Amino acid sequence: MTLVAALASGSDISVVGDTRLTTKDQFGHIHATRDLCQKVIPATGWCLVGWSGSLCLGRKVLAGFILRIQDTAIGHAGWLKDDKQLVAFAKEMRDAHLQQRPKHDECRGATVEMLIAWINHDRSIPLAEGTAKALDIALPEQSEVAAVRLPEGTVRRTHSGLIGIGSGVRAFETVRDEKWEEVTELGRGMEYGNEHRTFMLSEIARTEINRVGLADVGTAFQMFHLNARQVTSIPHFYWADVAPGFGTYVAMRIENGAWVQEHKPTHFRRLIVSPSVIHLQGPQWKKGTAEMFNPRSLSPESPGVVTAPPQILCFAPYDPDNVSAEVRRSWGMGGFPKLTFRPESMPRVNPYKRRHAKH
Ligand SMILES: [Zn+2]
Repeated sequence: MTLVAALASGSDISVVGDTRLTTKDQFGHIHATRDLCQKVIPATGWCLVGWSGSLCLGRKVLAGFILRIQDTAIGHAGWLKDDKQLVAFAKEMRDAHLQQRPKHDECRGATVEMLIAWINHDRSIPLAEGTAKALDIALPEQSEVAAVRLPEGTVRRTHSGLIGIGSGVRAFETVRDEKWEEVTELGRGMEYGNEHRTFMLSEIARTEINRVGLADVGTAFQMFHLNARQVTSIPHFYWADVAPGFGTYVAMRIENGAWVQEHKPTHFRRLIVSPSVIHLQGPQWKKGTAEMFNPRSLSPESPGVVTAPPQILCFAPYDPDNVSAEVRRSWGMGGFPKLTFRPESMPRVNPYKRRHAKH
């Protein structure tokens, strides 16, 4: 299960998503847990797409949305503003899947949610000659978030504030709207301000997930920031509790364009992969299995485990000169490269097969 959350300020958006997949029995007990799945994908230099729900149906709908967004010229994303078109497209992708896999009765009624976070450049680009009078005053770009849900066919959207999808949104029920307003103002105009807001969103999510006790939601996050210029990944360290008074730093970083979760001292390394390459069945889903970094399985004597300082640094970008000695001890002096996608530089390489006609 999942938590993907987007916090929009009106001009920029922080997006975080966990990496956990779980299977459950009919009583809702967790069978298997695997922290390996991409939940947030940069579709273009102006748009991120997150997903949650059924893996089989979800990845087909996701692939459809990514392809169509990549076929959408910057400044012509009006269809993303139209609830009816969003729902119709999600259903069209589901129908295409059912046509290919007529025996997938479960997929017919499966829950799938898509979260689309984008910058509305339609407002900032002059209209083409001959279609209408060009705007004299360019309106500022605006942040937009929409969440579509199947099978209900509902849409939620906002310009500023929080929208989450997945079972993990329960964690946010007690967080007041004013809290999110405060977070969107943090660190504006400062170095690492974008990272700072995204970390704060992540920390609230993680605290609330642990408080509510959602075992089916992971707390290793993919993190991204999106503004009028670009989409940027935010590789980082996070603190993980090992035992009372002890913890360790785990990296979520980028390697060869993909997210990797790594705890170097214990040689734990997990590639976060596209949902399209994950097998739906097999021994890896056997009851009682787990594929995850579990800090509770470490002890105060384990490599990389350090004493918790009075004030714990929960999330940090990696800047060797600027991190605590604990982080350096558990990692070393190497930095973390970022991925940046700009609207004009977005590669047209697509991890998905083209499955639907161009619209
Ligand atoms: Zn299916």
